[in-house]
Amino acid sequence: MKKVIRQDIQSMHGYAVQPSAGMVKIDTMENPFLLPAHLRKQLGERLAELALNRYPAERSDVLRAELAKHALMPEGCDIMLGNGSDELISLLTLACDVPGATVIAPLPGFVMYQMSAELQGLKFVGVPLTDRFELDLPAMLAAVKEHQPSLVYLAYPNNPTANLWNDAAVDAIIEAAPGLVVMDEAYQPFAARDSLERLKRHEHVLLMRTMSKFGLAGVRIGYLIGRKPIIKEVDKLRPPFNISVLNCEAALFALEHVDEYAKQAATIRAEREKIQGWLRELPDVTPFTSDANMILARVPDSKATFEGMKARGVLVKNVAFVHPLLKNCLRITVGTPDENLKMIDALKASL
Ligand code: PMP
Repeated sequence: MKKVIRQDIQSMHGYAVQPSAGMVKIDTMENPFLLPAHLRKQLGERLAELALNRYPAERSDVLRAELAKHALMPEGCDIMLGNGSDELISLLTLACDVPGATVIAPLPGFVMYQMSAELQGLKFVGVPLTDRFELDLPAMLAAVKEHQPSLVYLAYPNNPTANLWNDAAVDAIIEAAPGLVVMDEAYQPFAARDSLERLKRHEHVLLMRTMSKFGLAGVRIGYLIGRKPIIKEVDKLRPPFNISVLNCEAALFALEHVDEYAKQAATIRAEREKIQGWLRELPDVTPFTSDANMILARVPDSKATFEGMKARGVLVKNVAFVHPLLKNCLRITVGTPDENLKMIDALKASL
């Protein structure tokens, strides 16, 4: 095998998932709520009627149309679906894989931008944020000028720092970028602002969203909206039937009950503010502002606190090793009210 599998793949680490059985699982920005039982029963009945012997067909076009409506897709745009936005990131990378192509994103940021670029043989340039986790605009503009990137990713809000960027900085980067700019709005259900107007104004801006944080992480539906000619090309790379019949129907059902998910998102935003208040009262903890369903917080010793919380049955993410700017930082996903109480008790006991 050694000679068959690419050397760079043999030396890399795969995407790590922490074991979480029996724990308060607040490590991966999932929505902690299920639909009410009567709706889950209805969904089960709908899924039972599906023809699983057939390849997925037109239902995914219905889902595309419903998501386009849900996202208020502008005129002149089209939408494509991915098996999670992770798949869309891979397809975009593949589409932009011309000799010498570069991908730029701020760091710390979502790991898949870099991983996908490097696996595909594109150059990845990560531009460090400021120590307040803002975009370093001069550094971003300098990197764009020097590397003329095919793709710029701006996660808005960002993961793991959870903040929205300064809008004038985002607009300046978009103006300067010679290739595509992907506004990754995975956390849009929890954010005060979005990039719909940017998508309307700029032909080279793409909007990437997902149903994962909305409440369907297990269903794996991401979507990409952009000008028709761009989506047409990227969509050619999509594996045939990438959205399963089951996933498609579950997503359509969710869109029929969008009010339930909106209520959940409102609760998550209110819980986020409550947790921020608790964290601000702890003298040893520095929480950073959040427009997502997670809070980044600095503690005196993130490894010890992470382990202490884990021993108390609460699983958060220690992101300190990801980037030097994240020294002693934990990323805490907003859970149910009960989970959040357990989290704060475990945190206080583990500091
Ligand atoms: N973008 C960002 C910024 C993320 O944080 C994540 C997942 N945590 C994704 C995209 C991928 O989401 P999914 O594949 O579940 O749609």
